[in-house]
Amino acid sequence: MPIQTINPYTNQVVKDFTPATTQEIEAVLHTAQTTFDEWRTTTFAHRAQLMHHAGSELDGNTEHYARLITLEMGKPLKQSRAEVQKCAKVCHYYAEHAQEFLQDEEIATAATRSFISYEPMGAVLAVMPWNFPFWQVFRFAAPALMAGNVGILKHASNVPQCSLAIQEVFEKAGFPKGCFQSLLIGSKEVETLIKDPRIKAVTLTGSEGAGAKVAATAGQEIKKTVLELGGSDAFIVLADADIEAVAEKAVQARLINTGQSCIAAKRFIIEHSIAEPFLASFSQKMQKLKTGNPLEEENIDYGPLARVDLAQELTDQVERSVKAGAQLLLKGGQEDKNSAVFHPAILTHIEKGNPAYEEEFFGPVALVFIAKDAEDAVRIANDSPFGLGGSIWTKDIKHGQELARKVEAGAVFVNAIVASDPALPFGGIKKSGYGRELSYVGIREFVNQKTIWLS
Ligand code: NAP
Repeated sequence: MPIQTINPYTNQVVKDFTPATTQEIEAVLHTAQTTFDEWRTTTFAHRAQLMHHAGSELDGNTEHYARLITLEMGKPLKQSRAEVQKCAKVCHYYAEHAQEFLQDEEIATAATRSFISYEPMGAVLAVMPWNFPFWQVFRFAAPALMAGNVGILKHASNVPQCSLAIQEVFEKAGFPKGCFQSLLIGSKEVETLIKDPRIKAVTLTGSEGAGAKVAATAGQEIKKTVLELGGSDAFIVLADADIEAVAEKAVQARLINTGQSCIAAKRFIIEHSIAEPFLASFSQKMQKLKTGNPLEEENIDYGPLARVDLAQELTDQVERSVKAGAQLLLKGGQEDKNSAVFHPAILTHIEKGNPAYEEEFFGPVALVFIAKDAEDAVRIANDSPFGLGGSIWTKDIKHGQELARKVEAGAVFVNAIVASDPALPFGGIKKSGYGRELSYVGIREFVNQKTIWLS
């Protein structure tokens, strides 16, 4: 894929970038290694001061960074602003908590003293997607840098300006140049990078295919990986739920980021006794959503998808699903075959084996399933290759909590839309990946958890 900024709303190429040469890649690796040798010796207080500066840079220039996000991947500006502010929050969070999360941990044994020392590993390669082009990177970078590691970013080819801007945030904050470097390269270069001895570990957020390839190479090199992959989150509505209020939440949960979120609700599993009124309300609310030019119009609910080919792929998924027996309750779909604009759609009558039963739909298409009862809803939720998040909507919180334990996923929310929070671990099971980001759990992924024994 060419490394380019293309405005997805107009489909115009805004800027072309030349991929880094072999010499430039070598220079980045060299700088990363030499910086790490120094950076690992710095104090938490020093790192925290710089990380707070990075947060302040984002807080103070939200509009600038938000416009870059919207320009390159098309989400509504208000969502881009929220993304930048969330990045600032994660910087401040790890600036405040990293030391406590990584302090020596005493363990009572036969030794005079035995403890775990959490030590940095070196350069971590981050392969990142375009859907939250700032957030995905910051939720990796803030803990990694605070732990004493350095980061090298290979961002998605359609968000090069975001990639460079993130490096700029860390430089402006006062981090040494090699602490965080952005490399404009295609995905073919990733294998060579993973094999380089100066890269100690890899984190990838993206599709199952990319995750499998990166993990295979890292496996051959015996290097640690964290994989944050796709999801097809269930949104379970029980018979006692408040239909109007929950239908409103369902629309938000499906349309977040124009449907291009790993933790967007994708499968709506409704108890049969309320299915009819729920779907009527859901469909009606979906039809009221507004779209437009995300760089120019403030009051829109969804923008274009991030690229025309992604809209075409989603169209293909819908067409294959309908051919296999699914029905369109709300037609929606691509504005035209050369447009990235895709209007919300709802698919029903999805049987096992249908593409909509098995695949992730990365855009504003809601997949509806009718359950006999609550247990049947959990069974349907778990009958998926993915296991990222899920939500349960009921007036009976205790019942919701019991069911939450039964849902196979990395996170289950009761009466709330699934969202990430710096304080809580985030990640998936099954084909949604492994490892965790955020909280104290995330910062411990890329450290040597060293045992020290004093006799
Ligand atoms: P993608 O095509 O897998 O791309 C993600 C990153 O991987 C990009 O930087 C891409 O580079 C690179 N890449 C692609 N193929 C590769 C390969 N064979 N070897 C090495 N690197 C490779 O995913 P996407 O379409 O950008 O993002 C959408 C997917 O990400 C969805 O499945 C979504 O659910 C998932 N996602 C998961 C999470 C999570 O936290 N679990 C969060 C967000 C998104 P190029 O751009 O140069 O191809």
